[in-house]
Parts: sequence; C-alpha cells; structure tokens
Amino acid sequence: MSACGTFQLKYLDLISGARVIVDDSRTNIRCRGCDKKIMFGVTKNGKFIPIIQLPDGRWQAHFVDCIKASQFRHQCQKEIDKNQNDLNNL
Ligand SMILES: [Zn+2]
Repeated sequence: MSACGTFQLKYLDLISGARVIVDDSRTNIRCRGCDKKIMFGVTKNGKFIPIIQLPDGRWQAHFVDCIKASQFRHQCQKEIDKNQNDLNNL
C-alpha cells in the first residue's frame, strides 16, 4: 500500500518528552543550515518544528544540535511555509 503524495502520519516521542506527529512519507528533507537529514514534526500546539534522529534512534528537536541554529529559524521558515503550502494545496 503506497502511493505518491499520500501522508504516512505517525507519532514520535522526542527525548524532551514532547510528542509530535510526523509525515513518514517525507524523509528527504535536509537542514539548510547544516545539511543534516531532518524531518518536520507537528506539536500538539500545531507548530512545525524540525527534528533530527540521533545515532541511538531517538529523536530530538533540531534546534538543540544545529550548528547554525541562530540562522536556522529564519531559513526553516521557508521550509515551513512550503510545507504549509503543500498542506493548503491538498
Ligand atoms: Zn541544522
């Protein structure tokens, strides 16, 4: 069961304890600050946040470890806007 353009939503628990919903079909997103592979999660408050998988398999907010975190929020906003547009175009 797979089709282009479908969402594969699942929950991830971050090491901070927060739970986010991710679209498991979107796995090719890279951070524009550090080029690490990231995903976007939606928090219970409806905010998009970038998250990154640690070597041990757990997840954390990418704001925590991004070397360009200070620039990141701004750059990230473009990706968030793009995601939002994608959602709006469903
Ligand atoms: Zn980064």
